[in-house]
Amino acid sequence: MSTCINKEVILCKYGEVILKGANRSDFEVKMLKQLRLRAKRIGNYKIYYSQSTVYIEPLDNGAIERIDDMLFQAKHVFGFVGVSKAIACEKNIDTILNIVKEYLPEKLKGYKTFKVESKRADKRFPMTSPEISNEVGGAILSCVKGIKVDVKNPEITVRVEIRDSEAFIHAGQEKGAGGIPYGTSGTGLLLLSGGIDSPVAGFMMAKRGVALECVHFESFPYTSERAKEKVLELAKILCDYTMRVRVHIISLTEIQELLRDNCDEDYFTLLLRRYMMALSLKLAHEVGCEAIITGESLGQVASQTMKAIHVVNEMADIPIYRPLIGMDKNEIIEISRKIGTFDTSILPYEDCCTVFTPKHPRTRPELEKVLEEQNRLNFDELVERAYATKQVVVVKHFGDNIIEGQ
Ligand code: ATP
Ligand code: MG
Repeated sequence: MSTCINKEVILCKYGEVILKGANRSDFEVKMLKQLRLRAKRIGNYKIYYSQSTVYIEPLDNGAIERIDDMLFQAKHVFGFVGVSKAIACEKNIDTILNIVKEYLPEKLKGYKTFKVESKRADKRFPMTSPEISNEVGGAILSCVKGIKVDVKNPEITVRVEIRDSEAFIHAGQEKGAGGIPYGTSGTGLLLLSGGIDSPVAGFMMAKRGVALECVHFESFPYTSERAKEKVLELAKILCDYTMRVRVHIISLTEIQELLRDNCDEDYFTLLLRRYMMALSLKLAHEVGCEAIITGESLGQVASQTMKAIHVVNEMADIPIYRPLIGMDKNEIIEISRKIGTFDTSILPYEDCCTVFTPKHPRTRPELEKVLEEQNRLNFDELVERAYATKQVVVVKHFGDNIIEGQ
C-alpha cells in the first residue's frame, strides 16, 4: 500500500492521450516530465501514473503547504482534462465514510446541490458503485447542512474511486489544459506581436503539442522599448503552459524607412509582411522549426483578405498554421482572457505594423504588382541586413529572462 494514506494528493486525468495506441507511453513520459520539472520548483512530490491518471503526492510538510501551487502547475500541463485534490485512504467503506465526514464538509460549503459518482476499478471491492454512492451520499447529507442531492444538474460532484492500491475521495474537479502533451507535434515558429491574436494562436498550437519558438519584429525608435517589454511579458504568460520559450527579436527599422521612401504607399503593409515572412522562414530553417504560426483571421484587416494572405503565403516552403483563421474577434478575446494574455495585449503600445500604415491598403493585391514594388529595393540584401540585427531572449516560467545575444 502506498504511503499517501489519508493525505491530500492531486489527481490528473488524461484527455485524448487515452486514445493513443503505440505512442501512448511517449505521451505519458512527456506529461510526467512536464509535471516533474514544475514540481522541482515547488516542493518534494512523488509523481507517478496508473490507470489513466497521474498522481502527485506530497512527501513532506513543505509540499503539503504548497499543494495549491502544484495544482496550479498541473492545470497548465497539456494532456490532462481534469485536475483535482483528493484524499487517499484505505479501501474500506468505514474508513471512506469517516474521511467523507471529516474532509468534505469544508469542500461542500456554500453548495446547494451535489451528486456522488463512484467508480470501482478494483472489482474485488465488496460493494457495487451505486451502493458506494448511496452510502457516501447518505453520509454527506448527515454532516453537511442544507445540501441536497441533484443527480441531473448538481452544483458539485463528489467522486469516489476504488483503485488497485487505495481509494480516492474528491469533490469539484477543475478543468485541465486539455490538448496533447507539449512538444509531441514538432516545433513551430510563432510570429508574436503585441496584439490579442498572436498569443492566442501560439496557445492553440501549443495545446496541440507544438513546441514554440517566437519571433518578434520591432521598429525602434518608431516602436518603443515598452512595446518590446510587452511582447516579452506576453511570452512569459505563454510560459505558464510552455515553461520556457525563446523570443527572437529582429529590427525592421531600415526596411520600413526604405519602403516609405521608395515604394507605393498602398503596398507598404504587404511588402512589410513579405519581409517578415522571408525573415521568419530563414529563422525557422535555422532553428529547425517545421511550420510558421500566425494570428491571422480571415478578413480581420486589409492584409488578411484571401488575396493578401496569398501574396505572403506563396513565399513559404513550410506550412503556415493560422489557427484563428475562422474565428471572430470575440471568440479570440474569450480565449485570450482565459489564458491570461488579454490585459497585457490591450496595453496601448505601437507595433511595427502600425507605423507608416497606408491610408488605402490594397485588399485585392495582384502578386505581379507586389513583386514590381518589391523589386524597387534589393530584397535579399535587406533581409540579410535585418537578420543580422537578431537578438534572442529566453523567457522562462520560473526565474528571470536570459538575453542570449544573437
Ligand atoms: P495581433 O492581434 O496578434 O497583433 P493583428 O490583429 O495586429 O495581430 P496584423 O498586424 O495583421 O494583425 O498581424 C497578423 C499577424 O502577423 C499577427 O497575428 C502576428 O502573428 C503577425 N505579426 C504582426 N505584427 C508582428 C510583429 N511585430 N512581430 C511578429 N509578428 C507579427
Ligand atoms: Mg489580428
